[in-house]
Amino acid sequence: MLHIGCHLSASAGYLAMAKETVRIGGDTFQFFTRNPRGGRAKDIDPDDVTAFLAYAAEHHFATILAHAPYTLNPCAQKEETLQFARQTMADDLKRMEYTPHQFYNFHPGCHVGQGDVVGIDLIAQTVNEAMFDGMTTTVLLETMAGKGSELGRSFEELAAIYDGVVYSDKLRVCFDTCHTHDSGYDIRGNFDGVIDEFDHLIGKDQIAVFHINDSKNVRGAKKDRHANLGTGEIGFDALSYIVHHPDFEQIPKILETPY
Ligand code: FE
Ligand code: FE
Ligand code: ZN
Repeated sequence: MLHIGCHLSASAGYLAMAKETVRIGGDTFQFFTRNPRGGRAKDIDPDDVTAFLAYAAEHHFATILAHAPYTLNPCAQKEETLQFARQTMADDLKRMEYTPHQFYNFHPGCHVGQGDVVGIDLIAQTVNEAMFDGMTTTVLLETMAGKGSELGRSFEELAAIYDGVVYSDKLRVCFDTCHTHDSGYDIRGNFDGVIDEFDHLIGKDQIAVFHINDSKNVRGAKKDRHANLGTGEIGFDALSYIVHHPDFEQIPKILETPY
């Protein structure tokens, strides 16, 4: 069964997002845990959460996906920025327990001149500080385009982050089609070959979610500019092949472009 949904605004709460999802024919959705630029999170409304959980069960929702703010840099060099990332992720993961057993996706971050090795080590430390014993949330590393000093642009880097995370059984990957294409993987011409490579380095069972985005740029451009489905360099046929791939039938697919 296809599990599919969109990125939605969280401003009206969980139940509103679930209803919008059903209206458009989906069974999962993504939302920002707080303003994408960071800042304080809205207080959780327990009534909204209760209503949402009942509604999601009734409509057989797949796992939903919370997305950390973009400004969260888990491998920042500036102490203040690093502390913001650590506090935000820890706070987000605590709040996620209101809706147990969901996914929390974040961008591994930019090493800003510290180098890959230091960056990867800082990312693992940030995750280790935020995760806690008994948590039910699964944390997802998003595959990145490799813009600037962005880490997570290669499967090797993602594998190295896994190596540093204590609760690695609570870690999975969110595979963004635009980002992997932009970082240089030929998902358009050879998706199966790319997945083979992923399988050898990390294990394809570690892919928890797909972000289905087209890309405005050619493969390897390292840009991260999403295009509407079928209008970009990946194209409708390749994206459709991924969406319907038999190896990932159960894996939620999220569209991050307007629907
Ligand atoms: Fe993202
Ligand atoms: Fe994405
Ligand atoms: Zn992107």
